[in-house]
Amino acid sequence: MSSQPPSSAAAPAAPIALVTGGSRGLGRNAALHLARQGSELILTYRSAVTEAEAVATDIRGLGRRVAVLPLDVADSASFAGFADRVREVLADWGRDRFDHLVNNAGTGVHAPFAATTEAQFDELARIHLKGPFFLTQALLPLIADGGRILNISSGLARFALPGYAAYATMKGGIEVLTRYLARELGERGISVNTLAPGAIETDFGGGTVRDNAEVNAFVASQTALGRVGLPDDIGAVVAALLAPGTGWINAQRIEASGGMML
Ligand code: NAP
Repeated sequence: MSSQPPSSAAAPAAPIALVTGGSRGLGRNAALHLARQGSELILTYRSAVTEAEAVATDIRGLGRRVAVLPLDVADSASFAGFADRVREVLADWGRDRFDHLVNNAGTGVHAPFAATTEAQFDELARIHLKGPFFLTQALLPLIADGGRILNISSGLARFALPGYAAYATMKGGIEVLTRYLARELGERGISVNTLAPGAIETDFGGGTVRDNAEVNAFVASQTALGRVGLPDDIGAVVAALLAPGTGWINAQRIEASGGMML
């Protein structure tokens, strides 16, 4: 006997993903991959509102709902107000929870360990460690049970390249936080993972990996697959890690670097 669902059954609601730093680079690319996979999107930007609106236009073109909100992840005092804005977006959409949080936003600082200033260290800590920690905390009541959190780290947390001591220290911290979140949020069915990209051609770090031929060639030479990463190499992995059916992956660090610095 077949067990077809009744034809009147409502289609399940589309998942909603919140991607920080969705205006450019990896966040933009991930948002587009998620939209193609069927997600609705809440995107944040810090200053590039025009770019963020352009991403939103592309997402609407794919037939998905999207909201664009300003957010500075270095400003933890703003997180309660940001959560209120997210709640309003969800209410407009007839929802009270979103499903997937991608902690992606961030900038880089390149400085030798001996020359790194306390101001640089503090800025990186606010953006890459304190920001995701307390933003996730502020958004927790709005994340659906059974949802997912993806924290963006870096290959630099596994291997050491001179000039990234402070940045990579923060990324190492987010990898530890990922395991703690997975442990504590498991009771709500929320899975939490780290995605660690290798060097990717974006505006990151002034666009050095993309625009400096010497750096680009060095990265390619240190990568098993013989080239530098492109945003699509990461956006596709974000979508895969948030796809229906992959929620049993939990508390893992997944590196997408083409096999860099093996
Ligand atoms: P990107 O092209 O420079 O884009 C950075 C994004 O983050 C933009 O949307 C930007 O917003 C936003 N942002 C920057 N500072 C912010 C802040 N204080 N508050 C809120 N948003 C902020 O960089 P990306 O390559 O996409 O990097 C994204 C993430 O991947 C970062 O966490 C980075 O550490 C990580 N990552 C990058 C690479 C790489 O090689 N590209 C490798 C490993 C890991 P605006 O557009 O408004 O400025």
